[in-house]
Amino acid sequence: MSEIFTRSFTQQEPIPEEGIRAAMEVMQSGRLHRYNLSPSEVGEVGLLEQEFAAYTGATYALAVASGGYAMATALRALGVQPGEKVLTNAFTLAPVPGAIASVGAVPVFVGVTESLTIDLEDLVNKAGAARILMLSHMRGHLCDMDRLVEIACEHGLTIVEDCAHTMGAAWNGVPSGRHGLIGCYSTQTYKHMNSGEGGLLVTDDPSVMAKAAMLSGSYMLYGRHGTVPPEAEFEKIKYETPNISGRMDHLRAAILRPQLKALDAQCAKWNARYRVVEEGLRGTPGLKIVERPEAETYVGSSIQFLLLDWSDGAIAEVVARCAKRGVELKWFGGAEPAGFTSRYDSWRYAPSVPMPESDRVLKGILDMRLPLTFTLEDCALIARIIRAEVGAVQQAAAS
Ligand SMILES: *Cc1c(COP(=O)(O)O)cnc(C)c1O
Repeated sequence: MSEIFTRSFTQQEPIPEEGIRAAMEVMQSGRLHRYNLSPSEVGEVGLLEQEFAAYTGATYALAVASGGYAMATALRALGVQPGEKVLTNAFTLAPVPGAIASVGAVPVFVGVTESLTIDLEDLVNKAGAARILMLSHMRGHLCDMDRLVEIACEHGLTIVEDCAHTMGAAWNGVPSGRHGLIGCYSTQTYKHMNSGEGGLLVTDDPSVMAKAAMLSGSYMLYGRHGTVPPEAEFEKIKYETPNISGRMDHLRAAILRPQLKALDAQCAKWNARYRVVEEGLRGTPGLKIVERPEAETYVGSSIQFLLLDWSDGAIAEVVARCAKRGVELKWFGGAEPAGFTSRYDSWRYAPSVPMPESDRVLKGILDMRLPLTFTLEDCALIARIIRAEVGAVQQAAAS
């Protein structure tokens, strides 16, 4: 009998007890809105901002309603104009081009390499087209950030980082989100901290933070934020900056603060699971492991592998056979957007030029979440199932 996996790939851990207690206190207080504070109170949102700034080493942090909202706010704070081109990754998820489109700007996609990171050659070729790069660390893969920063400097590109999958990660010891001018994070349920919906933005730049705070809907109460730039920064922009409400509330911040304290330990647990799956898959004929560079401190909350140059039919067969045994693989190469997977050419509001080399990579990417509700044993079983099914399909194709 072949082994079957029965756990859910979408089951997250419960919110820590400490977070549940803090959320209860917020609800008992009746003061859920971030500016609904007693005179000397910083409040859960302000405290989260202070703690997240400290965690990332940023001067300022702003808590907002979602990761997508954080990215759009970053673009607005940088004065992105309707029709302006913004560079971003071809391999990313819908909220990224969506954030660019939400300010009327036009995503220009940059290719992906077999390491699943941005193609730096393609970036150099396209750098002249834009002043901003919205760099998405898709599925937690960090490109050579030192080289990327060099390229950005040479071409006058401002970097905004989408760290939805790299909260807790680093390149050469520098936390993800701290290589560019602005870092954006998501606390949506499937990310590294879970508040259902939510987002954070960090920067060292007082002018950017003043604008972002105003934009997020500060009702001129920005002085109550956790990390506040000098008043002079607000004086320059307060009459010119629209209120586009997207604040975080105390309830979400209350459940996030204990999760932030536990974040590094959680990342270690993800990596233990990642390594079990990676080792279990290593050496499978026809299957390419995405090797992680030494400079990268990653968070293995999901794992990807490549079936490069396989036919569509054979990949679909692997996906179907694994699904039958309870292993949910997402295929980025599928012709139609399915679930959260989609290709750059499926975002038809953003016309793209075909990128054959990237298409070859995207077509071969298989992707799987590794929730912390999986045990190490579960991970070993998942790897055995994938290995067996990839092997079976390959043998059938060869004979
Ligand atoms: C989840 C996600 C975001 C932000 O998403 P929200 O749902 O708006 O919080 C951004 N980029 C990527 C790659 C994501 O997966």
